[in-house]
Amino acid sequence: MYDIGIDVGGTGITAGLVDDQCRLMAGKSIVTDRNWTAVALAEVLLRLVRELMAENNVNSSGIHTIGVGVPGTANGRTGRIEYANNLPFCQGNLRELLQRQTSKKIYFENDANAAAWGEYLVLDKKPESFLMVTLGTGVGGGIIQDGKILRGVNYAAGELGHMTIRYNGIPCNCGRRGCLEAYASAEALIARARKAMDKKRKSLLWELCRQNQGDMNARLVFDAYRQGDKTAIKVVRKYAEYLSEGLANLINILQPEVLCIGGGVSRSGDILIPLLQERVSGKIYSRDSAENTVLTAARLDNDAGIIGAAKLRLCENGSVQLETVP
Ligand SMILES: [Zn+2]
Repeated sequence: MYDIGIDVGGTGITAGLVDDQCRLMAGKSIVTDRNWTAVALAEVLLRLVRELMAENNVNSSGIHTIGVGVPGTANGRTGRIEYANNLPFCQGNLRELLQRQTSKKIYFENDANAAAWGEYLVLDKKPESFLMVTLGTGVGGGIIQDGKILRGVNYAAGELGHMTIRYNGIPCNCGRRGCLEAYASAEALIARARKAMDKKRKSLLWELCRQNQGDMNARLVFDAYRQGDKTAIKVVRKYAEYLSEGLANLINILQPEVLCIGGGVSRSGDILIPLLQERVSGKIYSRDSAENTVLTAARLDNDAGIIGAAKLRLCENGSVQLETVP
């Protein structure tokens, strides 16, 4: 049996078949049209699901449920997406539109919460408290406590990227200034690298992006770091400095057992995690405690959101049904 997970992003949408061991067995992607209304998006998602099932010879009896991860606040009470950077599919009840056309139960969740849920589910030993910070275009977050996604009074909890780390700092997409997102997203890392290489024409960064700053990405910054490029080392260290400010704040508030770093930047976890560990351990209030939060890099990469969305049914009763997740 499978569950279907769908990750709806601002640029692309992927649906996947996830088996009972939380493995993504097949997937199908399309490009997002930012003009879609909720009605149009629901049609597109249902078509994507039908095609995915047909291509993999799976019929309706082979599917438990369908879970959808969406940007913005996924109001589980109403089924509406609230505040997702003004994407038009906010207007309309996406969950109801989907549920009307399928007999399978539809689950619906914020995308970063779904990704955190996915990463949590694949851990061999489930921690009591688990925090995931996703470093992508923005900085997303998800908090899992006692086998349950923490959603808050209005389903908008866990927006860890919009914690201020610098009063009156860089403007953020949310309208405030100095948010963690403005300093620690992959975009922020790339912007910092571009600025630094402008001053260092001999930096390896120029060679790696073939003299075109438009082609700069987070992976190249870490590649240059690995090769000992001084400019890249400076950029990455500064980035880790800002990120560790945010992580130390989060640890001071929640003291989670595990803090997982996800998103594209987590592919360079071999470099980033030790840098963060070193900085965070000096900043946290609990620095003298025998036991402290363990920092880890995510394991599922881009699949976390799909796997987490697919398995939202396991979160339904407030505790993960461990017997179904070996
Ligand atoms: Zn913000």
